[in-house]
Parts: sequence; C-alpha cells; structure tokens
Amino acid sequence: MNAVVDSNVFMRGRANLEFERFYTVPSVMDELESPGARLSFDAADVRVEEPSDESLEKVRQKSDEINSPTSGVDEELLALALDMGEVLVTDDLALQNLASHTGVRFRAYMGDEIEEERIWVRVCGNCGEEVEGERCPRCGQRDIKRKPG
Ligand SMILES: [Zn+2]
Repeated sequence: MNAVVDSNVFMRGRANLEFERFYTVPSVMDELESPGARLSFDAADVRVEEPSDESLEKVRQKSDEINSPTSGVDEELLALALDMGEVLVTDDLALQNLASHTGVRFRAYMGDEIEEERIWVRVCGNCGEEVEGERCPRCGQRDIKRKPG
C-alpha cells in the first residue's frame, strides 16, 4: 500500500508509516528547507509526481465550493491522491476536510483527524457580513476572513 504525503511527514523526521512507497508533488520539495527534512526525504522511498490537470481542476472546484482555506500545494497533493487512488497522509485539518469532500481517504500522521466535514463561509473582517466577491457589500472592506459555516 502506498501513500501521498505532505511536507510535515518529512519535516518531523521521516515517517514511521507502514506504507511501501510515498508519493508527493514537486512543490513539496520546495518546502523542504531544513537539512534534516532533506535527509529524511532522501532516505524514504519517495516518488515525486505531478497531479493531472483533470484532478487538480476537480479539487479546485470543490475547494471553491466550500471556501476551503487550503493552499495550492495542498490541493496538488490531494489531486495526486485522487489520481492514484491512494490514501493522503496529512495533519492539516483543512486538507483532511477537503479530502473528505472530494472522496479521498486520508489519515493523520501525528495529529488529530477531523470527525465531520465542514464548510467555510467568507465574512467581512470589519462588520461580519457574508461576502461573495472580494469586497464587502455592506461596508466596502476588502479584509475577508473565513469562518466555519
Ligand atoms: Zn463589512
């Protein structure tokens, strides 16, 4: 059994995970700046793959739908897990949540796992009004925050 893993797995000092092989995306390589992380990365049997455009598009659509606060790298990892039909290993709760919405199996590495799916709503940081676009319709602020819906 294989797994798609995020950068935390490497930064925290090599996964003692029972998977045969690890997959990750090129962008994760860029996040591995400490020598320790590099070392554990080199020691693990890791393959670096790009996700398909099709899966990436599907993940991004779902992300937009639920106003997910996940990063671009997160979405690439999820798209790769979707492509490969493998489990996604991440301690990022927002990414676990997006995986759940996308129908991808996930598990935590050292942290907790989410117990239920969540969506976010985008609200104005000034007055709290729900915002659809980039600017608050009530007060005109552009300081948009996300909160659990
Ligand atoms: Zn406002």
